[in-house]
Amino acid sequence: MTGSIKLGKVFGIPITIHYTWFIVFALVTLSLATHYFPSRYPLWGNWVYWFMGVLTSLLFFLSVLVHELAHSLVSRIQGIPVERITLFLFGGVASIVKEAATPLGEFLMALAGPLSSLAIAFGFGALWLLGRFILKIQALAALSSYLGLINLSLAVFNLIPGFPLDGGRLLRSFVWGITGDYRRATHIAIGIGRAIAMLFIIGGLGWAISGHWLDGIWLAFIGWFLENAASQSYRQLITREALRGVKVGELMSRECPIVPPSLSLEELVYNYILPQSKRCFFVHDGEKMLGMITLHNLKRIPRERWAVTTVDNILTPLFNIIWVSAEEDALKVLEMMDEKDVNQMPVMERGHIVGIIRRDHLLHFIRTRLELGI
Ligand SMILES: [Zn+2]
Repeated sequence: MTGSIKLGKVFGIPITIHYTWFIVFALVTLSLATHYFPSRYPLWGNWVYWFMGVLTSLLFFLSVLVHELAHSLVSRIQGIPVERITLFLFGGVASIVKEAATPLGEFLMALAGPLSSLAIAFGFGALWLLGRFILKIQALAALSSYLGLINLSLAVFNLIPGFPLDGGRLLRSFVWGITGDYRRATHIAIGIGRAIAMLFIIGGLGWAISGHWLDGIWLAFIGWFLENAASQSYRQLITREALRGVKVGELMSRECPIVPPSLSLEELVYNYILPQSKRCFFVHDGEKMLGMITLHNLKRIPRERWAVTTVDNILTPLFNIIWVSAEEDALKVLEMMDEKDVNQMPVMERGHIVGIIRRDHLLHFIRTRLELGI
């Protein structure tokens, strides 16, 4: 997500905050300090409302973080890396690099979040009993009853059985486990997810029209977010299906001309790139391959230096090249490109780099397949 700031790492997982989170944080604090606490505890001082508002909001978002950490840790135990956890407008999201390998793995990963929210709810419940009846500290009881209920609703909301909510993942793991068909299970979970999202939107708008405009619009907004996430999952599924069983060798381009290391960038651009519309070049010194050059390397050098810079000054050396085998699955390479944030990877065949696979090769293939309906 763009517009995020890094907060630090927990268990080695980077935690980031998206700017939209600050809006919700301010709104939650505002509603607690000016409405929720004053209406229930009219005898507190003004600064107490604000102190309690900020503290409660912070603890609320800490609860959301724990929920996401629970997903992340169970995922990591299964050997699936977690890129980061982001707190944003609608709560938190853990960027988990790939899907679980088994239905049970997915079941545990999905269940961990709501279970942790439930555990936190019970913890605050106990704290509420302590504050209310034993210590008789009103502020402690107020804070824990709010946080207990909010964590309980967090657990319940996330158990709604529509993808991409945790409940949708649980549903998918069930269907996947019973039928053994990951694809069908995903289609079902996403379908229900979209239906639930539409219900949220329609219900929210109806609620807004009937006078509860703020709650109504918020509900519709959550529905819109869920619909977006479900559609995105659907596109990912389609991509997977289109690339299933396809090898890199079938889609790569073998047309990377060989150029000498002494070639100037100006010659490269005007003699190779523009007239031949090539985008990648292997740099060979006689028989020996030194590395490769793509438009990406070239763009880093200012134009006025093209005439005086030679290819060997800017090439990516052979030992730095992250290559893939021509036998590799195309889908796996697309995932690697996402993971490493690159748009192309050289392809190795029998110990030699023979071509390049680019993101647009893969996307073009997917589009064509969808267009033809095959
Ligand atoms: Zn969750």
